Amino acid sequence: MTLTFEPAPPVLAATTTGDHFPVRRLFCIGRNYAAHAREMGNDPDREPPFFFTAWAEAVVPDGRVIAYPQATADYHYEAELVVAIGASGRNVTAEQAPAMIYGYAVGLDMTRRDVQAEAKDAGRPWDAAKNVEQSKPLGPIHPKADLDPSTGTIALTVNGAPRQTGELSDMIWSVPEVIAHLSTFYRLQPGDLIYTGTPAGVGPVVEGDVIVATIDGLGALTVTVGPPAL
Ligand code: MN
Repeated sequence: MTLTFEPAPPVLAATTTGDHFPVRRLFCIGRNYAAHAREMGNDPDREPPFFFTAWAEAVVPDGRVIAYPQATADYHYEAELVVAIGASGRNVTAEQAPAMIYGYAVGLDMTRRDVQAEAKDAGRPWDAAKNVEQSKPLGPIHPKADLDPSTGTIALTVNGAPRQTGELSDMIWSVPEVIAHLSTFYRLQPGDLIYTGTPAGVGPVVEGDVIVATIDGLGALTVTVGPPAL
């Protein structure tokens, strides 16, 4: 059999400087805000950091309509600070980590919450809950020189109604600590994105909803929930 298809094109994320950031891999941190850990039934003081991964092709840019995915009746938003990695590193310390950061963006970690609950109950992986087509919208990446990600408010509205709010200073594991932790498992590489967890207030969306996530200094990310994908 002769292959007749072309390689998938690289996923290119927008930056505020006009450059295109080639997306390599996605690492997503769970339970990184105490209030959200509690709303999901966990004790934030006893949970070590953990993460899951997603495909680069789950990234979609600001302003898009995202499909309501198949196989769920409880599709949730999660507003997150996203760290864009610009340098390679393994087993780095939290002190070394900031030098690996290219910049920051507002992101969404959309989640099939019902599928996640079933996976948790069964002790199974979260892939089908989290690594969903079009589930990781990403706003323009701001070079790190633009801001300090350790302070500021992260918030989310649905159709203009406030749903999530939190302070980046309330993250259980700081951005440098997250990078150091991930680098004990993988050599982080330029193009990697780290979704750093969500504050309290997660909830479901339906077709037609407009989601706006904001972080001080990073502007807004807007997506509209569309009909199911074909
Ligand atoms: Mn998340």
